[in-house]
Amino acid sequence: MATERTFSIIKPDATKRNLTGAVNAVIEEAGLRIVAQKRILMTRAQAETFYAVHSERPFFGELVDFMISAPVVVQVLEGENAIAKYREVMGATNPANAAEGTIRKKFALSVGENTVHGSDSAENAQIEIAQFFAGNDIVG
Ligand code: ATP
Ligand code: MG
Repeated sequence: MATERTFSIIKPDATKRNLTGAVNAVIEEAGLRIVAQKRILMTRAQAETFYAVHSERPFFGELVDFMISAPVVVQVLEGENAIAKYREVMGATNPANAAEGTIRKKFALSVGENTVHGSDSAENAQIEIAQFFAGNDIVG
């Protein structure tokens, strides 16, 4: 297995409830290393670009409104098999289906307000990291 980097967002439902540290604790306990992190208020354009793949879905407007409703914490996570591993640590999109111990099971409020994002492929991880971080922002 190779060391990989994945892109993570701690979403507005979590930052509003002061859960940044609690989410980071689960990430670190899972053996993933936070190698870049910043708290930002996304612009509408940033959120629309980020979730462009969902632009035709009925929940797109709601999703973009949610992502800009409060600050988010964007992160780069590094570790063995980090992309698949973080998807596992996050749990299913809908917290009702998320496994015990996952971030979404512990903290998510609903399928929309589901606490975290994680890249779903190596290709998307690269694209998403580059949307928010320059190479020299990431210190492994
Ligand atoms: P993410 O891309 O945020 O990591 P995911 O890959 O688990 O989540 P996607 O299918 O990519 O799930 O959906 C992107 C996001 O859109 C979800 O995390 C959720 O916030 C929102 N979303 C997905 N399905 C719905 C829905 N049925 N109703 C409302 N929001 C939804
Ligand atoms: Mg997704």
